[in-house]
Amino acid sequence: MENNSENQALIYIFGGSGDLAHRKLYPALFNLYRKDHIKHNFAVIGTARRDWSDDYYRDTILKSLTELPGSYNQKIAFTKHFYYQSHDVTDSNHYVTLRQLGDELDQKYHTQGNRVFYMAMAPKFFATIADHIKSEDLLSDQGFNRLVIEKPFGRDYESAKNLNDAISKAFKEEQIYRIDHYLGKEMVLGLLPMRFTNPMFEQVWNKQFIDNIQITLFEALGVEDRAGYYETAGALRDMVQNHVMQILALTTLERPDALNAADIRDKKRLLFQALKPYTPEQVDAKFVRGQYGASDIPEHEPAYRQENNVDPKSPIETFVAGEIDIDNDQWSGVPIYIRTGKRTPEKRTRIDIVFKPSANQIFDQPAAANILTIDVEPSEGVTLQYNGKKVGQTTTPESYLMSYHHSKEMLNEVLDAYERLILDVLVGDNTNFSHWHELEATWQFVDAIRQRWDSQAPTDFPNYKSGTAGPQAADELLAKTGRHWIYQPTDNTKR
Ligand code: NAD
Repeated sequence: MENNSENQALIYIFGGSGDLAHRKLYPALFNLYRKDHIKHNFAVIGTARRDWSDDYYRDTILKSLTELPGSYNQKIAFTKHFYYQSHDVTDSNHYVTLRQLGDELDQKYHTQGNRVFYMAMAPKFFATIADHIKSEDLLSDQGFNRLVIEKPFGRDYESAKNLNDAISKAFKEEQIYRIDHYLGKEMVLGLLPMRFTNPMFEQVWNKQFIDNIQITLFEALGVEDRAGYYETAGALRDMVQNHVMQILALTTLERPDALNAADIRDKKRLLFQALKPYTPEQVDAKFVRGQYGASDIPEHEPAYRQENNVDPKSPIETFVAGEIDIDNDQWSGVPIYIRTGKRTPEKRTRIDIVFKPSANQIFDQPAAANILTIDVEPSEGVTLQYNGKKVGQTTTPESYLMSYHHSKEMLNEVLDAYERLILDVLVGDNTNFSHWHELEATWQFVDAIRQRWDSQAPTDFPNYKSGTAGPQAADELLAKTGRHWIYQPTDNTKR
């Protein structure tokens, strides 16, 4: 939604000294400020354990804005809206101080009693914080109250449900904004407009015409300094349950009745309910996992098990590929192949829609299938592989590409994923956030795979080299039905 009017709110950031706050939230808020979405009537209270002064806090924020456009004076003026409170999440008295400061800033900045509570710290604290927000009366009774929650939302269905029950004591579902930043990406947001404004796509978006769909979310980086978290998660929990599933839903959900949050979320819920959790035998047949070994230059890229804070015998997967079957009229029999991994040849997210070949092959050579590729990142656009006539004295068909990608200049003008989603929170649009029903179904689907894997230790880790597109088993998954991955990056093991 385009919104150029100024938004009014007091934002509490729990975990204000952290990495996420400095790398994502402060730059995003500054860009919203530069573009006048927030201006005079906003204030931010950052909380964390350390004992910082407001000035010190503002300095750290200023540093996080170094690379951004905007004058020094503008950045200083922006940081003046920020206040710091050291805070121990379990100490009730600290919430009383937070409330008093909030009330004061509400008056000073005329934020109309609008409050956003942003959880940017370890998930184990979310329930305690939500409890205290309610018991110590931090909720405003004048404006809106909205809770923003970062991933991971639980580590399985049961813990997600416990967390949801806990935050639901203080916030209603429509006040909860569960962030999945892939839902703020331009081409992910573009999926519904593309599918439902082009009859030439909409009419053929089903099992009659589509052979398979392939969703790839590749990262070039390894685990970096996040082993503490990653060792308890792995690629299945970290990427599949949320980002992959959300992209899958937007690619395959039924036409919503209208383009509003309630309808879109309802169609997503129906879609996720059509994913039946797999039996152990189905998990073995349809999902594979991998863990990266060193690249050809191990000093540059060591094996996962050699990374800092990783167990040298770690069974954690850094790569997942699988076939997901949607049990409904539109898709039954169409495999949705997904894969995601760390230390692959390059960072790339894309969706390949592979159509069935033409049923009437009247030419001397069979024509290739149509393929529609949606590039989500780093380039953002669409390519269609179609057939024409080979040039010359022949009627032989040949494949050609039609392609459109947004220019860098154009993309620089628009809000990035975090900016967009924070703005959505401020204007109260929860279309691009995950509803509890979606998490319920996706966790149940993912839990069945996790449980099977946890019952069998992997014996072949590491099973792919850093700089390659995952283990051989990921290719075999498609090869057994005569298919292959459309996106095949070149190995990059010498980087
Ligand atoms: P971080 O460790 O850098 O920051 C944690 C913050 O919590 C710090 O400000 C710390 O002072 C505060 N904190 C910790 N214990 C506290 C306590 N007992 N009382 C008060 N404050 C306490 O973590 P992060 O990387 O910024 O991640 C924050 C959240 O965002 C996590 O849920 C994480 O999973 C999620 N997330 C982070 C990233 C990322 O890129 N960093 C990406 C996606 C999701």
